[in-house]
Amino acid sequence: MTEKTLPLLQVSPKAPEPLGPPARSLRVALVNMPWARVDAPSIQCGLLASIVRNAGHHCTVHYLNVELAAVVGPKTYNGIADAGGERLHQFGEWLFSYAAFGELRPDSEYHAEFPDVEEIWRDVTGEGIDTISTLRRETLPRWLAEWADAVDWSGYDIIGFSSTFLQNTASLALGRILKDKFPEVALLYGGANFDGEMGAEYLRKLPWIDHVVTGEGDHALPALLHRLAAGEPLTGVPGVWTRGATGPATESTRTQDLDTLPVPDYTEYFAAIERHGAQAVVGDEPVKLLVEFARGCWWGQKHHCTFCGLNALGMGFRPKTGERAMHELEQMLRAHPVTHVEAVDNILDMKHLSTLCASLAEKHWDVSTFYEVKANLTREQLAVLAAAGINRIQPGIESLSTHVLNLMRKGSTKLINVRLLKWARYHDIKPEWNILSGFPGETDADYAEQAALVPLLYHLRPPDCGGILWLERFSPYFTDETFGITNVRPRACYRFVYPETLDHSKIAYYFDYEAPGIASQPARKSLYAAVGEWRRKWREEVPPSLTYRRLPTSLTITDRRLDTESTTTYTGWQADVYEACGDTARAAKRLHQDILDQGHNLTLDDVTAFLDDCCANGMMLTEDDKYLALAIPENRHW
Ligand code: SF4
Repeated sequence: MTEKTLPLLQVSPKAPEPLGPPARSLRVALVNMPWARVDAPSIQCGLLASIVRNAGHHCTVHYLNVELAAVVGPKTYNGIADAGGERLHQFGEWLFSYAAFGELRPDSEYHAEFPDVEEIWRDVTGEGIDTISTLRRETLPRWLAEWADAVDWSGYDIIGFSSTFLQNTASLALGRILKDKFPEVALLYGGANFDGEMGAEYLRKLPWIDHVVTGEGDHALPALLHRLAAGEPLTGVPGVWTRGATGPATESTRTQDLDTLPVPDYTEYFAAIERHGAQAVVGDEPVKLLVEFARGCWWGQKHHCTFCGLNALGMGFRPKTGERAMHELEQMLRAHPVTHVEAVDNILDMKHLSTLCASLAEKHWDVSTFYEVKANLTREQLAVLAAAGINRIQPGIESLSTHVLNLMRKGSTKLINVRLLKWARYHDIKPEWNILSGFPGETDADYAEQAALVPLLYHLRPPDCGGILWLERFSPYFTDETFGITNVRPRACYRFVYPETLDHSKIAYYFDYEAPGIASQPARKSLYAAVGEWRRKWREEVPPSLTYRRLPTSLTITDRRLDTESTTTYTGWQADVYEACGDTARAAKRLHQDILDQGHNLTLDDVTAFLDDCCANGMMLTEDDKYLALAIPENRHW
């Protein structure tokens, strides 16, 4: 592998010595700025608040994202925070960039470059782009100035901004104002937007930043506070960059045993929601608890998906024990009794199926939980999730072409992905997924095959969206030149959001690029048109279905995938074979052996001819001599 920019620092090899009590207790503020989601507390701030307090300091979390949502209303706030295509236009970041950096380019140039933004705004507010300029140039700067006055920031020794996704310019803007008003208060920045060389570049160029934590803050933040409290030199704290001091020799120390972390404290978030009333902040959305039961990715540490920029340099998988996860969840739900929980983990720890999930199933709580999972989950494993209340998953399906999945090193296949969608529907689990395209080495045939497949899958939940892959910092496509991706440059939006004094190649997270050997636009468009029809069908009052009923000697499939209803009945050994391909894809040879074992006198050709006939009739899928039945049992209790 030819690496472009990574690793920036050596990973700190050993766990740090435990810190003793601080020389004095510092007063620490953590700030969660817009456009962080408002329907849940910040897990970063909640966890760091607990860590800082355990280290002997005072800590307060300010949820200014909640405050802004209460001012502009949840519809406008979420319309900006969740605006489609944010990786292209960075609308939310651009809105606060005027307050952070002043005039960079005329608003008209931004709108000419990103005409979709006007449409997004009109959908959300019903207003024209002149009101965007008012928000950007008047409302948001005034709101920041008011918050600079509303809190006694001078009462803090250090103010920390945790900046992830679209929180960066709001965090930088408030920091700039606070530094002007309270130059003696130290400003600290961290979070995913400050990982790797991004954090060092911000510190170098933006004079109001005093410290930057790159990587995990669990150890870096208390170590920094300890030195500040003692008045000791700040050079050499792993992962901490300090103005005027030599940069750190090592990455921040990662917590290896997550059970040693404290439980996140969400007190200030729920107080803010209570103060404003949930409806005024989140609208009709339920308030959710965020939990973290693992870091890193057990798949990615062995086969890093080529497009994945998650986890920066920390892909190593580190789960909490199931016992600890359960204890933590119960403690949080007792403190904040909500009915919706989201795990921020990149991937479900498979051990949690028999520990955490089993315990949850025994509890009989009416809690609806979201998890990111691997698409390889079986029917039985999905049943375990359903019993545990995990009824929303993000399985990382990404494609229905095995060739494309191989190109992205997903470790999945067309049949595995369809199996997941099928049993998720059976167990009433909502899979949230996308179809991506634009992988070097893919062909038009990959997309023609997927487009042809789509009508057979109308009874399964369609993808939420799709599009060409985006190039992320830290992903193998970004770091490994052997993939042939060239002309890598920061996306155009950065010119409108950040001043030229910042080196955009060092702060950008998303990049434009040229990729060799990708499918033609017409081929990709034909797939997305087919997906559009699939999604349309799921907006109908009753979504399409394909179910079967079993009797001792027959199996009858009712097909309501299209506008007309039809039935197909298989009898005798054919019913047995069809059902045997239900849980998972089976090879013809194995099925034939099963049939022989049952005393039938059939050849392999007889069985294969039947299986191929099922495929030709749209009742099964096949690949690599394996067959997967598409119909779902009508009986919900099997
Ligand atoms: S895309 Fe998901 S499964 Fe793949 S490496 Fe990233 S986190 Fe892991």
